[in-house]
Amino acid sequence: MADQSAGRIYLSPPHMSGRELNYVNDAFESNWIAPLGPHVNAFEAEMCARVSCRRALALSSGTAALHLALRHLEVGTGDTVFCSSLTFVGTANPILYLNAEPVFVDSEPDSWNMSPEALQKAFDWASKVGRLPKAVIIVDLYGQSAQMDPLLDICNYYGVPVVEDAAEALGATYKGKNCGTMGKFGIYSFNGNKIITTSGGGMLMSDDDEAIDKALFWATQARDPEPWYQHSEMGYNYRLSNIVAAIGRAQLQVLDERVAAKRAIFVRYQQGLAGLPGVDFMPEITDGVSNRWLTIMMLNPELTPVRPMQIIEALESANIESRPIWKPMHLQPLFAQCQYFTHGEGISVSDSLFADGLCLPSGTAMTQEEQSRVIDTLRDCFRGR
Ligand SMILES: *Cc1c(COP(=O)(O)O)cnc(C)c1O
Repeated sequence: MADQSAGRIYLSPPHMSGRELNYVNDAFESNWIAPLGPHVNAFEAEMCARVSCRRALALSSGTAALHLALRHLEVGTGDTVFCSSLTFVGTANPILYLNAEPVFVDSEPDSWNMSPEALQKAFDWASKVGRLPKAVIIVDLYGQSAQMDPLLDICNYYGVPVVEDAAEALGATYKGKNCGTMGKFGIYSFNGNKIITTSGGGMLMSDDDEAIDKALFWATQARDPEPWYQHSEMGYNYRLSNIVAAIGRAQLQVLDERVAAKRAIFVRYQQGLAGLPGVDFMPEITDGVSNRWLTIMMLNPELTPVRPMQIIEALESANIESRPIWKPMHLQPLFAQCQYFTHGEGISVSDSLFADGLCLPSGTAMTQEEQSRVIDTLRDCFRGR
C-alpha cells in the first residue's frame, strides 16, 4: 500500500528557480514596487524575444489578455465568437464579458484541440444564417499546439481573426513556430499552476503595434492624453505590477529546463505504467512539440473496468492530487444555451476525452521517488482487474 503519511504531491505547483528573489530585491531597492516599472518592460521584451513576436503586454491574468484581444476585435452585444469547447472556463468567460455569445467547437483526436472539420461545420452554419463570428479562439490544450495550418486556412477564407489561447502552451511549438504567436493575438498565463508562474499574471501578444498600444490604453483605465484625468472610453485596471514581473523574468530563464522536465515526467509515466490494460496517454502531433504541461492518462472503457474517478480517489487517499480532464464548455450549465459543433456526425470527441481521461501530478520539482509513489499507487488500482 502507498504510504499515507508521506508529503502531499500536488498536480502542478509553482517551482521557483531561486533567482526570483534577486529580481524582486532589485525592485525593492530601486523602490519600483508598483505599478509599472523597468521589470515590466524587460519581462515584455524578453517574452517577445523568447517566442519571436513583435509586441507583448504584461497583464494581471491570461483572462484579462483574452478580454482585451476580443475587445480590440470589436466583439460586442449580439456577436458570436467561435471557441474550443475542451478548455478551462477562462477561455470562454471574456466572450460573456462583452455580451457576446460563444459557439463551441469540438476537438479532433490527434491533438485534442479544435477540429478543422467541426470548425468548417460551424462556418457553414454561420454563413447560412448570415452570422459570421467576430473571432475564433483556438486553445493549445495541456501544452500542445492545435493543428494551426488547417484551422488558419478556414479562418482566413472567411476573413475572421484568430486569438490563440496558449495559456498552457508557453514553450511549445508547431512547425517550428511558437504557440501563442500564430493568430492575430496570442495569450499566455502565469497563474500558479502554469509551466512558469509569477503567482498570477498574463501576457497579450501581437505583431500589431497599434493593437497593443490600444490594449495598453484600456488596461490602464483608458486615460486620455490630457494633463488631468480625462476619460472618453471605459477602461480596466489590468496591468501587471513591477514586483510580479520581476518573478516572471527569473521564471522565463528556466522555461527550457521546465519543458525538458515536464517531458521527462511524461516519459517516466509512460514507462512506469506500460503494460496496464486499456491505459494510454495524450498523443503528440508529428507537426509539433508539446511542453507536456500535464501528463494526461486515458482509460479505454472497452479494455479496463477502472474509471478515472476511481483512480483520482485512490490517489487522493495516498495524499496525491490528480484531476479529471477539463469538462467541455458545451457541457457546462453556464453555456447550456450555446451552439456546439462536433467533429464527427453525432460523435463528440471532447465528451469521450472528458469521460475517459485524467491529469496526473506533473510538477517539475517532483522527485523520482515521489513519481514512483504515484506510479505504484496507480498500478495498485489495476490489481486483480
Ligand atoms: C489558465 C488558463 C486561462 C486563464 O489564465 P488566468 O491567468 O488564470 O486568467 C485561460 N485559458 C486556459 C486554457 C488556461 O489554462
